[in-house]
Amino acid sequence: MQPDELRRRVVTDILPRVQTPGQYLAGELNAVAKDHAAVRGRLCLAFPDAYTIGMSHHGLQVLYHLMNRRDDWLCERVFTPMPDMEALLREQGLPLYGLESFTPLGQFDVVGFSLQYELCATNVLTMLDLAGIPLHAAQRTLDHPLVIAGGPVVANPEPMAALIDLFALGDGEEALPAICDGWIKHRDSAGNRTEALKRMAAELPFAYVPAVHGDGPSIDSFEPRPSGCGDDSLASNVQPPASNIPIITPAVVSDLETVPLPTRPIVPYIECVQDRITLEIMRGCPGRCRFCQSRPLKHPIRFRSVETLIAAAIESYHNTGYNEIGLLSLSTSDYPYFDELLRRLFAEFRPRGVSISVPSLRVNEQWRTVAEKLNTDRRSGLTLAPEAARDELRRHIGKRLSNDDLLAGCRRAFECGFHRVKLYFMCGLPGECEADIDGIIELSTEIARLGRDVIGRWPTVVANVSNFVPKPQTPFQDEPMRRRDYFEQVHHRLRSTKKPRAVQVKIHDLETSLIEAVLARGDRRLSQAIEQAWRAGARMDAWNDRFQPALWWNAFEQCGIDTESILHQCRGADDARPWRHIAVNR
Ligand code: SF4
Repeated sequence: MQPDELRRRVVTDILPRVQTPGQYLAGELNAVAKDHAAVRGRLCLAFPDAYTIGMSHHGLQVLYHLMNRRDDWLCERVFTPMPDMEALLREQGLPLYGLESFTPLGQFDVVGFSLQYELCATNVLTMLDLAGIPLHAAQRTLDHPLVIAGGPVVANPEPMAALIDLFALGDGEEALPAICDGWIKHRDSAGNRTEALKRMAAELPFAYVPAVHGDGPSIDSFEPRPSGCGDDSLASNVQPPASNIPIITPAVVSDLETVPLPTRPIVPYIECVQDRITLEIMRGCPGRCRFCQSRPLKHPIRFRSVETLIAAAIESYHNTGYNEIGLLSLSTSDYPYFDELLRRLFAEFRPRGVSISVPSLRVNEQWRTVAEKLNTDRRSGLTLAPEAARDELRRHIGKRLSNDDLLAGCRRAFECGFHRVKLYFMCGLPGECEADIDGIIELSTEIARLGRDVIGRWPTVVANVSNFVPKPQTPFQDEPMRRRDYFEQVHHRLRSTKKPRAVQVKIHDLETSLIEAVLARGDRRLSQAIEQAWRAGARMDAWNDRFQPALWWNAFEQCGIDTESILHQCRGADDARPWRHIAVNR
């Protein structure tokens, strides 16, 4: 179908009948629409979640502008249509399309998925299916786009191995242009898709091509070890796999200064999760938290200069009109020029009424000194991630924070006018005992009492408790996940323990965590289960109100997935990991 005809049909026959039609049209401020006939290659960045989520993702804006800056490529966007839109596209027999031009997704050269969360897997299938692209990589020909994926889920690509042609490991700014150019070159010369993919796999050390690299490791044959056997060695998972798969190593931007910030970010017409200028000040984190997957995936630590950041902030402000600037990093406190950056940002933007928000600030001496300077909306409150309630467990999981620092930081926040504190904890951590669970309520209560003493009335303290999933590529990757009944007891204990009304406990859904863990830790056989769950109706699984866990458990059973061993057996050897050919720990 021609783009103009598709646009006419969507606008007249579909958009009047869907909720929030603005999410299915482009034309926003700073969106780039190029002539398809005037470029060599056409890329569509596919975010497997709703527009409102995807448009808040900084990486999407970075890669979109990076590729559109090139004269020989164009880059468009596509997001997962909500179920009402999906139903209408199917009813009308219309394909999913790139927002900027209404070009059917199947007509692009490359479709690049950003896999931020395991539970977005079925959204990938929805998008491929609506595009008319075969779900299985093995069924695609040279007439179909190259389907690639990057993002944190690639820490273990095996569960989606049958669905994706090529996984890109590492920094997208480095990997994406090389993959796009490689595809055009090899597609046009190789004669068939397998040969083109083979050449790309041989050429790009950060590209994992399941069809070429052969069957990935399976978790069938490992010997379980007793619990508590986590391996902390950062280099431990870069052993060669037993099969012939080579070690895939990440693409790395060695100098962050060479990667321009997107100073003309697209400004959506509809409200998104985050509507602000984002400045990525650094990449990587010096922390050693043993549960953390972000650190190894974003390693090594790299910084942008203050000059670069100030110039980008001013340019972005003029190009967007946003009244908030958010600093992005895993650990802002570790940015070496933090004080200078804040001073210059305040000097530049305070007179213009632009606020500066600083997430990921560690509660330490620095926090005590900057709390009053931040223009953070005090009603939205202070967010802190102690992860565990007691210093002892925190030391065990590698989290650099003491309760003394935490309480001192909260005192400072209350003195600065904050009335609300949000705390993020995990339960089910290795080494956790009853005192750690009770400690969550005790610490939250102590902070609430501190607030009452400082501000003269009870503040609101919200303790968000998530269920620990031992993720691939982390020092805890070989730990078993705690069992369902353990989590149920912990949740009951947290809910039933007496606490002041000022303290609220919010507990993450257990079914979501268990299924996330299966998808994070399993092997290639999960591709079939993902498809099975999708065919049974699983959609938008990351959304609590749409998530149907029964579909997933049925799919695992029908596909013979041994969820018991994936979740609960302690992996004892490198060759027990389905992701052992992926080497992110540099
Ligand atoms: S949890 Fe945060 S501080 Fe700890 S290693 Fe990960 S990114 Fe760094």
